[in-house]
Amino acid sequence: MKLPSQATGSTVEPNCLEDRLQRFATIWSRAIFPVTATSLTRAEFEQHLLPLARRLSDALHSRPSGTAANSAAHAVGAALVAAHCTDPDALSRTLGVVDAYLVLYCGNGQEPAEDSRARCARLQHAIAAGYAQALRERTLSEQEAIARSALAARSDAMEALHATETRFRAVFEGAAIGIGIADLEGNVLEVNDTLTRMFGGLEHHVRGRKVNEWVHPEDRPNVWDLHEELIRGEREHFRIEKPFYRNDGTVLWTNLTVSLLRDAEGRPKYQLALIEDTTERRLLNLRLRYEATHDALTGLPNRTLFFERLEKALTAGEGNSFGLCYLDLDGFKAINDSLGHSAGDRLLVEIADRLQSCATAPGEMVARLGGDEFVALTTGSDSGRDTIRDTSRDTEHETRELAGRILGALSTPVMLDGREIRVRGSIGIVEGAAGERTPAEVLRSADITMYRAKSAGGNRYEFADPEADARAITRHGLTTALPAALERGEFFIEYQPLVRLGDGSVHGAEALVRWCHPQHGVLGPDRFIPLAEHTGLIVPLGRWVLQEAARQARFWQDQRPAGHDDRTLRINVNLSPAQLHHPGLVADTVDILERSGLEPGALCLEVTESALIGADEDLLKPLRQLAEMGVDIALDDFGTGYSNLANLRRLPVSILKLDRSFTQGMQQHPADPVDIKIVEGIVALAHSLELAVTVEGVETGAQAEQLRELGCDTAQGWYYARPGPPDRLHALSLADAV
Ligand code: C2E
Ligand code: CA
Ligand code: CA
Repeated sequence: MKLPSQATGSTVEPNCLEDRLQRFATIWSRAIFPVTATSLTRAEFEQHLLPLARRLSDALHSRPSGTAANSAAHAVGAALVAAHCTDPDALSRTLGVVDAYLVLYCGNGQEPAEDSRARCARLQHAIAAGYAQALRERTLSEQEAIARSALAARSDAMEALHATETRFRAVFEGAAIGIGIADLEGNVLEVNDTLTRMFGGLEHHVRGRKVNEWVHPEDRPNVWDLHEELIRGEREHFRIEKPFYRNDGTVLWTNLTVSLLRDAEGRPKYQLALIEDTTERRLLNLRLRYEATHDALTGLPNRTLFFERLEKALTAGEGNSFGLCYLDLDGFKAINDSLGHSAGDRLLVEIADRLQSCATAPGEMVARLGGDEFVALTTGSDSGRDTIRDTSRDTEHETRELAGRILGALSTPVMLDGREIRVRGSIGIVEGAAGERTPAEVLRSADITMYRAKSAGGNRYEFADPEADARAITRHGLTTALPAALERGEFFIEYQPLVRLGDGSVHGAEALVRWCHPQHGVLGPDRFIPLAEHTGLIVPLGRWVLQEAARQARFWQDQRPAGHDDRTLRINVNLSPAQLHHPGLVADTVDILERSGLEPGALCLEVTESALIGADEDLLKPLRQLAEMGVDIALDDFGTGYSNLANLRRLPVSILKLDRSFTQGMQQHPADPVDIKIVEGIVALAHSLELAVTVEGVETGAQAEQLRELGCDTAQGWYYARPGPPDRLHALSLADAV
């Protein structure tokens, strides 16, 4: 069977995969064989590693990545301990090999390198965790064995425990962990070689010292209390993680278990310390933790670490406050596309450096969230304050300054390949008291605010504002709900009659769309048309409105009693700028007219004046074609734009629709003389160009009369009727026919 081409294209052939796995196992065994205590030969050891390599390879590919992959890697770590690879070197070498070769030999080349790297880092983490856990369990059982034989030795030789029992000696000398014995005053009496080596190899540095000299600033606060209890005989043993200084001043991290040894009468006599060196493991964990919490490209803290810090700042308790600047570079995509990704990467590194230098005060941090998004967090310069001050005022001020510094740092152009690149950014600021919001809420608000800064022109910062957030969230919700709403038929149309001013008869109607939203109720077009414009949904929505309105108009015409008025009822439909730019406009309109059986002369498309300002011939061509077919084109909201009246001649327009603001001017008593003059002028000009004039927003009889006197042809407004369901219009036009 032939596999689908997509699968054969980039997936590694099975045989080849097996080869690669074997090679990976070879490299691995070469790296760790020298540090294992195994009795296997190298070749046998390599075969032993092969199934483990396969598990890692599978874990690298498993979909979805997660717990299953992690537990596989965890098991590989444990298997290493079981195979006697207990030297800490064996783990770090294993991680080195996995880090360098796993993706290379076992990657399938299908997923982005960055993703594979991230998975590989997680696997290393799990291997180390599995290894550490298995090692701990093993050490514990070893420790138990030692403690058992020490106790046995004590009962066998009552006075001099360290001198007599050979069995204890053997364990003592041969143990892989450090053992030391001290009296109750803390004088160290005996140490084994492992312990001496741990402390740097000088026996006198360990023996002859006193136990309580081994204090370290990072000691757990309770370690010496536990010790006291043990000496007093109140506890048999305790176990704790403890750092020591080696004789060269470096730090040795250990798991320390101290047990009390009693004499035959049960009186406390000696203390026995079992010390496991965890320094390497700790360093490894630190390295892995660093990799898991920092961005590989810029070295900045990553999203994970940022969320940890934010969480901490938000749960810091009463009286604490925080400030967050969410930065997104303006136009980074364009830079990346034109200069290439490697230049884009270098740019990000440079920006990261600059940002870092903006946030150096205590309590400030900068992180990269991904792509060209960065955040700066401040928790106030003085978190341990004891006087009560207005901390929120302080952080507001600090955050504003931080944002200012960031914009300042971006303002110097970046030199890339000998070119000066100008970088700008938009910042959304959220600040406030701890304990009020979750990290996710804060970040969402910052994100929304950043977009507000961006749409206000970019290169600026804005402060979050709960009302703006709420608006943005509803807007977002409406935007995402739009496509489904069209499919579910949640839109409907209301019709508002257009009346002839001369005799008051109904000339036609304007179709006005509404959305019956399942949660928000009926929404007017001002709420969703801009969103539909923005997402492109306006094209199918507009097509639906046109189709529905054309069908309705044809229906009205069919319903009219024959012969009572030979003038056809007309339908006005609004067109958005995006529809004007859509290549299918003419074909769609022709198709809709044909299907509905409506003649082109009964349709009027309303286009806003602003959409046509500066329009070139290409944009006008579809309108011109429609006009040639007999469709009327009306210039909607006329008088609100700045179009050159002389330009009207050039447009394929047959109707001017005067904006409502003129009608409003006429509502005053006496009517605004300037408005009257303007309307008079426009009507005269329009008529001289053979354009008809419609007025909108007529709310009173006085306005209607005035506009009639001024020579307007048709009118629309609440005075005649509010927009309503289609049968209302039918009734109106019948009434007026009588
Ligand atoms: P428009 O084309 O200027 O529509 C006239 C608006 O004025 C309508 O608001 C109407 O309800 C309102 N109106 C009518 N008479 C009066 C009056 O006497 N006084 C006052 N104060 N207002 C009056 P609506 O329905 O909210 O529509 C708002 C805008 O939405 C429309 O402005 C139009 O630009 C757009 N629109 C409506 N339907 C569609 C559509 O199907 N497609 C597109 N692209 N835009 C549409
Ligand atoms: Ca309109
Ligand atoms: Ca209008």
